[in-house]
Amino acid sequence: MTVTQTSASTTSEFVSRHIGPRPADVETMLQTLGYSSLDDLIDTAVPADIRQDSMLDIPAALSETEALAHLRALASKNVMKTQMIGQGFYDTITPAVIRRNIVENPAWYTAYTPYQPEISQGRLEALLNFQTMVMDLTGLPIANASLLDESSAAAEAVLMMRRANKKKAKGKTVLDSNIFPQTIKVVQGRADALGFEVEVADLSAGLPEGDISGILLQQPGNNGSIAEHEGIIAAAKEAGAMVTVIADLLALTMITPPGEQGADIAVGNTQRFGVPLFFGGPHAAYMAVADGLTRSMPGRLVGVSVDDAGVPAYRLALQTREQHIRREKATSNICTAQALLAICASMYAVYHGPAGLKQIASRANNHARVIASSLVAGGFTLASQSFFDTVVVNVENAEQIISAANEAGINLRKINDTQVGVSTDETTTSDIVKTLLGVFGVELSAPEGFDIPASQVRTSNYLTHPIFNTISSETQMMRYLRRLSDRDLALDRTMIPLGSCTMKLNSAAEMESITWPEFASIHPYVPAEQSVGWRELITDLEGRLTAITGYAGVSIQPNAGSQGEYAGLLAISGYHASRGEAQRNVCLIPASAHGTNAASAVLAGMKVVVVKTAADGTIDANDLDAKIEANKDVLAAIMITYPSTHGVYDADVRVVCDKVHAAGGQVYIDGANMNAMVGLAQPGKFGGDVSHLNLHKTFCIPHGGGGPGVGPIGVGEHLLPFLPGDASGSYTERDGVPVVATAFGSAGVLPISWAYIAMMGGDGLTEATKHAILNANYIAKCLNEHFPVLFTGNKDLVAHECILDLRELTAKTGVTAEDVAKRLIDFGFHAPTLSFPVAGTLMVEPTESEDLGEIERFIEAMITIRQEMEEVLSGVYSIEQSPLRNAPHTATAVINSNWDRKYSVEQAAFPVSGLKFDKYFPAVGRIDGAGGDRNLICSCPAPEAFED
Ligand SMILES: *Cc1c(COP(=O)(O)O)cnc(C)c1O
Repeated sequence: MTVTQTSASTTSEFVSRHIGPRPADVETMLQTLGYSSLDDLIDTAVPADIRQDSMLDIPAALSETEALAHLRALASKNVMKTQMIGQGFYDTITPAVIRRNIVENPAWYTAYTPYQPEISQGRLEALLNFQTMVMDLTGLPIANASLLDESSAAAEAVLMMRRANKKKAKGKTVLDSNIFPQTIKVVQGRADALGFEVEVADLSAGLPEGDISGILLQQPGNNGSIAEHEGIIAAAKEAGAMVTVIADLLALTMITPPGEQGADIAVGNTQRFGVPLFFGGPHAAYMAVADGLTRSMPGRLVGVSVDDAGVPAYRLALQTREQHIRREKATSNICTAQALLAICASMYAVYHGPAGLKQIASRANNHARVIASSLVAGGFTLASQSFFDTVVVNVENAEQIISAANEAGINLRKINDTQVGVSTDETTTSDIVKTLLGVFGVELSAPEGFDIPASQVRTSNYLTHPIFNTISSETQMMRYLRRLSDRDLALDRTMIPLGSCTMKLNSAAEMESITWPEFASIHPYVPAEQSVGWRELITDLEGRLTAITGYAGVSIQPNAGSQGEYAGLLAISGYHASRGEAQRNVCLIPASAHGTNAASAVLAGMKVVVVKTAADGTIDANDLDAKIEANKDVLAAIMITYPSTHGVYDADVRVVCDKVHAAGGQVYIDGANMNAMVGLAQPGKFGGDVSHLNLHKTFCIPHGGGGPGVGPIGVGEHLLPFLPGDASGSYTERDGVPVVATAFGSAGVLPISWAYIAMMGGDGLTEATKHAILNANYIAKCLNEHFPVLFTGNKDLVAHECILDLRELTAKTGVTAEDVAKRLIDFGFHAPTLSFPVAGTLMVEPTESEDLGEIERFIEAMITIRQEMEEVLSGVYSIEQSPLRNAPHTATAVINSNWDRKYSVEQAAFPVSGLKFDKYFPAVGRIDGAGGDRNLICSCPAPEAFED
């Protein structure tokens, strides 16, 4: 696509709206830092050795109006039809109150993952509703707070069965042949990477021979049929195998849930609960498990605990099983999941309630029965006599029917040359049914037969909790959403200074287009000519990301950073294998790396070898040499983060890359910190063979409270054949290259990153990076005397973030980094990253979007906290009596006639005077996380729990 340049837009106003500090502020900050110009600072901070020699080769910046006009033009190249393709994706109606108040509301979409539970009670409640909804509908006792997509969730279930079923650890995994083909492919890819056997078999004919670790079934099946699974489930159990059922949640309002049939695990997509098709994603996948499997379940889990006043409070449970703690021993590599989409799906259930959902399901089922009855009356035969919403019809010529349907404005699914699939959904109307029947040349008849088999009719209740039964008017719904979001601190209220996570502006113009129906209503499997606009946008975005990273090509398929890591490492393995070096399977990972790195390496079938950190925070060169030498014949790769997770540009990164290359290894550069490099340095040019980017960090996709994300990978020329698909054609798969997610991954949010890059242009992006570095260095300089900055590079400068070392202060005063994090809440701040990558520290990343005023407010808060630490030291109060240990303070805590603490209520609530005009009170006080883990409750508590 060519983007026209207009002279008016060469200096984009958007750039100055995206970047926080004004030119005069920049001067002030530079003075404090002792530099005469921003370029002077940048030239000192960023090693000359890695600097790119030319400006970014991307089209000039567009204004907001121009960018939106381009997006309109792209959107209009997509063709909107009635989507009856099914295959795991169904049209749905997003209630306007949910679209406007969640999807388009920064209070929800700019929130961070709820690691600080006291400021996240709203989204935690929404996610707990999600878990409760999934548990009820699947009939299983525990559900997590979302996974990435149905196919990868099925793969996670397979791996979980292999972990949990120790007796059959060496057994094969059997997939029923009646599973969606995209799921079979993703699971097969995982199995190939890990070297275990997967067999695809028709399980309706019974279990195949041999030792079986677990089986995977789908309900309803690929051909739409409702299977009677009890028999095969019982047989599998008898044979010592575990059972996973991929189930359609809407169908489960009418048919027996997997939990009641003895399944150990249920997974699936929640897209049709009000989340647009989005050309394939993002959507929240779910996973529910039987008792005993909770601790090995992947993904995040919300649980109920109590705060310091004994009030019920939510927080993420069992964090200890996750990759950021367990690294290569983690249950999965999933970090960013699909929180925002899970929240939407849960609110769809709150909005419709159990009766409303049942009605939506029955209507879709009824339309399908009308279609089936009419087709049979008209002489057609069907592939299956029982179905929920998908009728598979035997025809003479599938292409012919599909193209006739297409002419009539309807997309159908081609199953094979003589079968087409028709899926109904919430949006199906009688008119659509009539048009469809016209395509087949049959008359409308009344539904006759095709009842759900009696043995499969659901008899149990679901969604009985009051939250799904008390909100019926839109006023109530609007207020519920507002009440929850008011409990949370998101980017719309405060800086979120999270090191490694880059919480920058998600501008309104960037967000604008994602809900346009021309983008949002496109099914991922439409014929290529209906998704021309989407594919142009994706190809163009891939091109721009290629130019930015300095690689030879990019694939946007991975739907989170973790999935990019996995795809990138598979590309490396594929490359080694293609050169007859399949034995190369060792992955070197520095001790400071993000936990997903190690977890992804294991999933890609590699062996993790840890490289030590030197005292100055760089990679220990001696240890690196020793590890390379010890593994030189089997060295597959090194995974480094650049700038390092210590917030510093290691000057010798080229040396590290050269050493690994010399030993035959490949270099994976984790690009989560790309915000420190865009326009200044290119990983593809200073030694990287592959990198993932986090579009939900550097490229402005909002965090959504823990997802969605996009983790595209860029690769060098030699790895291009191993990229998981590209946007030419229909993201066609490559021979022998595993797919890691469905087709275009989280396509639906790509217009956000496209708009950001388009409105910034090469100059603007580079300016953003420079200002991010300026802001970080300003904070480091101003706070260093109060909280020493742990690692610095050239001339004591940091990159785009800095680590504040509290360990010595903790030893002296007893005040922990956690106390500081919680006390910051009283100042209305979200905490920095806590204890990563170094325990007992806080990592601060302001990003370019924060203005000097907000940065000064943060510095003031930190210095005030430092003074309170002094007061602990000087004995004004003990640590237990201090406002630090008792933080955060709720309104209930401070508005209390029995106040008897060693500090005043004013100090508790208004430690700095600015707070008198703008005060955030958290809904709960400090939460007992460990206590909640000991007594695990992961569904909505009864309302009585909140009574005094
Ligand atoms: C965020 C992050 C990741 C993981 O990305 P997800 O999208 O959460 O999977 C990996 N590495 C680093 C350094 C990160 O900061």
